[in-house]
Amino acid sequence: MAHERIPLRLVPDLRPDEPAGRDGGVLGAVEVLPGLVRAALLTRAGAVRARAEARFDPAGSDPSLVDAALREAAAVFDGQSLLGVGVAAAGVVDPVAGRIIEVNDAPALRGHPVADRLAELSGAPVRVEHRARVQVLGDRWFGAGRGRRSFASVATGDVLGVGILYEGEVLAPPGGRSGAHMTVTASGEFCTCGRRGCWKTVATTRWLRERAAEHGFSGGEATLAALVASDAPAASRLVDRYAENLVLGLATVQQLFACGLFVLHGEALDGGERFRALVESRLRADALGGGELPTVVLGEAADTGTLLGAAGLVLSGA
Ligand SMILES: [Zn+2]
Repeated sequence: MAHERIPLRLVPDLRPDEPAGRDGGVLGAVEVLPGLVRAALLTRAGAVRARAEARFDPAGSDPSLVDAALREAAAVFDGQSLLGVGVAAAGVVDPVAGRIIEVNDAPALRGHPVADRLAELSGAPVRVEHRARVQVLGDRWFGAGRGRRSFASVATGDVLGVGILYEGEVLAPPGGRSGAHMTVTASGEFCTCGRRGCWKTVATTRWLRERAAEHGFSGGEATLAALVASDAPAASRLVDRYAENLVLGLATVQQLFACGLFVLHGEALDGGERFRALVESRLRADALGGGELPTVVLGEAADTGTLLGAAGLVLSGA
């Protein structure tokens, strides 16, 4: 198969507002992470009807470990009339082949043909995408991005990345990444990719935890939620810097794509309204004008958000 860009087309006769079952069919959603498979059955309006999850040894290298976990979690689809199954996978994926290429710290997922396995298990068509990219589809069909033609969905926390809907299409060119390795500081720390100053070196949980430890915050005090709630000036300054670092990447995305709306997922939700408002005000301060002033909103809780994205992949598929 040619490795060309496949636009995610919208199917005109599928209306997510309709009650499930009218034309037959519910949505299957699967999330594949190192050591964990989550599955959910959703209505076309995005209501979760049933969930299941199964664990596997992330250190193991035998792909049958993953097969067994998929089988266990996919039992939630038994006897259902599925429109399809969307898979949100960690790591590097090949959406055309329906395969996971590589996931750090999970050798059993390397090269795993997750789409073929789930198609055998569910009897339904299966589409696979990177989890940071599908999040935007959850927001587009069921969340804060509903009705919009362009916006961005942002994964924060241990995983950092941006998914972009532009003029109704998800920007997902083969080989494209989710932005975590954009260089945001010329002489910054070394990144896991071997280069210096990537966005993820300053805007993920690891950075926050390490800086918090330097200021004497440890354990439960070193989380975004605790730092936001703290009266300590050092905590407040750290939260400000974390928001600024997040905006280093978002401002670039805004300049290139004029997304207008940014939906935050993951750790940012723990920071609540205070953190959201900080990110928005920094982003607006960096805006160069011309076009919609950027707005920042909080998305669904992390685990549901990704599953909604996977379900959105089904509605967006041809
Ligand atoms: Zn990097």
